Amino acid sequence: MLDNTTSPTPRDQLLGKRVDVLDQGWIELQDVMGDDLAIVNAARVSFLGESKGPDRDKKLLFYLLQHRHTSPFEQVEFKFRCHAPLVTWWQWVRHRTWHVNAQSGRYTPFEENDYYTPGTWRLQARDNKQASEGELDETAARALTDKLLAHYERSFALYQEALEAGVAREMARLFLPGFAVYYTWVLKVDAHNLMHFLRLRMASDAQHEIRVYAWAIYEHFFKPALPWTAEAFETFIMPGLGPLPE
Ligand SMILES: Cc1cc2nc3c(=O)[nH]c(=O)nc-3n(C[C@H](O)[C@H](O)[C@H](O)COP(=O)(O)OP(=O)(O)OC[C@H]3O[C@@H](n4cnc5c(N)ncnc54)[C@H](O)[C@@H]3O)c2cc1C
Repeated sequence: MLDNTTSPTPRDQLLGKRVDVLDQGWIELQDVMGDDLAIVNAARVSFLGESKGPDRDKKLLFYLLQHRHTSPFEQVEFKFRCHAPLVTWWQWVRHRTWHVNAQSGRYTPFEENDYYTPGTWRLQARDNKQASEGELDETAARALTDKLLAHYERSFALYQEALEAGVAREMARLFLPGFAVYYTWVLKVDAHNLMHFLRLRMASDAQHEIRVYAWAIYEHFFKPALPWTAEAFETFIMPGLGPLPE
């Protein structure tokens, strides 16, 4: 009798996987097209050739990334669904090579408590105007968080009051605490441009609220989907990757 059972591929295991990020955020893999071999085969099309066995294939992939032959890496695509606060999106959408579609506050009313509440309050860095360093002490942090939550509650009450007065959703949302509001997006990017994003946004000078998403993508999706590419990335593009941010 024929055995029709096949063991799941790494792609099968990754599809639909969701990872929690920040207090209420998440990112899940909706689709992935291609793997390390697709990159190698795209490069070999120049000679109308294909795989030459794992050792030579991996060596070629490393050569490609080391010498920035980037177009074969564009043959692999990732599609994510992601829930992140606006403070994260604001920076993410600057990466023009991503294809994005977003939830609209004009169609769907926002939900109560779908706001980002930080676990700690980072302090303004002294030497770098764009960065933070250290944290507010615990007592002061708790008091500030209480104020933030009261602010969210008041904002949402005003939002609802405007909706109940018949104001359009597109205007009532002016009352919401802008940067803290969580939005859901669908995003697609190829592996070359994803590596560019990861290099900038996993770096220690990136803001924590985008850094944790970049790391989640790298650890949970990029590395398992493209193990050779991830190894080459850590060798040539981002050597000395530090530990995951807390
Ligand atoms: C730590 C940090 C701090 C930042 N601070 C600021 C800030 O203070 N203010 C601010 O405005 N931005 C800031 N940015 C955003 C930054 O300037 C870039 O907009 C963002 O990182 C996206 O990078 P990118 O354009 O290379 O990526 P993508 O838009 O994904 O583009 C990838 C590459 O494609 C090419 N490309 C894409 N579109 C074009 C185009 N239209 N023309 C020519 N080439 C193109 C470029 O080579 C580009 O590098 C910051 C980014 C980081 C990481």
